[in-house]
Amino acid sequence: MVAPKDTPVWVDETRCKACNICVSYCPAGVLAMRDEVTSVLGQMIEVVHPQSCIGCSECESHCPDFAIFVAKRDEFKFAKLTPEAKERAKAVKENNYKKLNA
Ligand code: SF4
Ligand code: SF4
Repeated sequence: MVAPKDTPVWVDETRCKACNICVSYCPAGVLAMRDEVTSVLGQMIEVVHPQSCIGCSECESHCPDFAIFVAKRDEFKFAKLTPEAKERAKAVKENNYKKLNA
């Protein structure tokens, strides 16, 4: 998949099977599941806070379906991990990996 311009992390929704694994590994609360009626499992991964992505590649390296991609370090300036992002990651996990306030 071609890297979109100025994007830290992106998804090929045709490959995602909504397993939550990437959300469980993301330390920065960047990812969460949204309800999606057209998806077989009723959910779809979403990049909800791209500005918080630290470029750790945990999502990409653990996705069993090669559905999520992270920009290369020389092509994108990633964020630093903030306490707020850590808190959000924890809250999303406690919310069964679902988007907060959704
Ligand atoms: S790990 Fe891959 S297949 Fe699973 S929810 Fe994330 S993007 Fe989708
Ligand atoms: S690269 Fe790291 S911080 Fe960015 S979305 Fe993936 S797991 Fe989260």
